[in-house]
Amino acid sequence: MAGRIAQADIDEVKARVDIADVIGERVALKPAGIGSLKGLCPFHDERSPSFNVRPQVGFYHCFGCGESGDVYTFLRQMDHLTFTEAVERMAARIGFTLHYEEGGAAPETSGRSRLYAANAAAGEWFRTQLVTPAADIGRRFLGERGFDAGAAAHFGVGFAPKGWSGLLDALTKQGFTRDELLAAGLVSQGQRGVYDRFRGRLIWPIRAITGQTVGFGARRLLEDDTGPKYLNTPETVLYKKTQVLYGLDLAKRDISRGDPRRVVVVEGYTDVMACHLAGVTTAVATCGTAFGADHMGILRRVVGDDGSAEVVFTFDPDAAGQKAAVRAFASTKGLAAQSFVAVAPEGLDPCDLRLQRGMPRSGR
Ligand SMILES: [Zn+2]
Repeated sequence: MAGRIAQADIDEVKARVDIADVIGERVALKPAGIGSLKGLCPFHDERSPSFNVRPQVGFYHCFGCGESGDVYTFLRQMDHLTFTEAVERMAARIGFTLHYEEGGAAPETSGRSRLYAANAAAGEWFRTQLVTPAADIGRRFLGERGFDAGAAAHFGVGFAPKGWSGLLDALTKQGFTRDELLAAGLVSQGQRGVYDRFRGRLIWPIRAITGQTVGFGARRLLEDDTGPKYLNTPETVLYKKTQVLYGLDLAKRDISRGDPRRVVVVEGYTDVMACHLAGVTTAVATCGTAFGADHMGILRRVVGDDGSAEVVFTFDPDAAGQKAAVRAFASTKGLAAQSFVAVAPEGLDPCDLRLQRGMPRSGR
C-alpha cells in the first residue's frame, strides 16, 4: 500500500462525503440561512455559535477564531489525523476503494496512528479472550448483571487473562514495539522489563466520540487482586480522563436527533450498558474521575447551546454518589441547558434498576 493516494480519489471522496454529517457527529448543527448550518465552534470556547458549515461547497468557517477548511482539514484539526489518515477514514466511511500511485511518498505513519492501531489490536485481543475458559468469572460477572454475549459484543467488552504477557506477546507478534505499547498504556514498565497492565480483569474499551479506542477501563474480578476496583489506562497522548466520556460514540447520534436533545450522565461502564439496553441510548459516563468542566465542554458541542437541551445526572444513591451529582450539577452552570439530578426509586443504581424494573423497548 505504498505510494500516495491518487488526487482524483482524494477529490472524489471529498465530493461524496457529506461534511455536515461528519461535523454533525461532533458538533450540534442547526440551519442558519440558505445552504448554511451553524453550531458552537469545536476549536475555541464560545457561548453563541459562530461556526458555520456549508455542505454544498464542502467547507466550514468559524467567524470567531478563523478556523476553516474542508472535511479533511476538519479531521486533521479535530482528531489530529495526518492528511492520508483523514482521506483513508472518509474513504472507509463511504466504502470507496482508494488507489495509491507508484513512486510517490510513502503514506505518513504518525506515532498517534500507531497508538490508535495498538489500541484497536488490544481491544480485539481482549474480546477474543472473553470466550476462553479462563474468562468464566468475567462472563459470570456480566451474566449476573443481565448482560448477555450480544450486549458484551455491542460494547466491545473483553477479558484480560491473569498472565503477565498475554497481550504483550500477541501485539509484539503483530509488529508493535515495546515503546508503542508503553506509550499506549497497554503495558507497564517493571524492573525486569514490561508486562501487561491489565491482568485478570473485565475490559471496556473507552472510545473517543469518533469511535476510535483511546483507552480501556478494567474491573477487578479476582479475590487475590490487590489493585483498585477499576483500573484505567494511564494518561497518554490519546487518553485524557478529563476529556473523554464513556459511551458518547454510541450515544452521539441519538443525542443529536433528540427533541429536546438530552444526555443522561451515569456513573460507570455497567450503568451505561444498562441504560442503553433499556432504551436510554443517550447515556454516557465519566471514566474514573469526577464530572468536570472539560466534560461539560464536550457535551456542550453535542447538545448545542440553544437552551433547550437537557442534561440529566444519575449517580449511585450512596452518599459519595449524591455528592458527585451535586458537584456535576454545579459544573453545568456555563451551559445554556436545563440540568437535573435524577434519583432512582428505592436508591437503586441504573444497573440494578434495569435488572429489577427494566423493560427494554423494542427495536433498541
Ligand atoms: Zn472558532
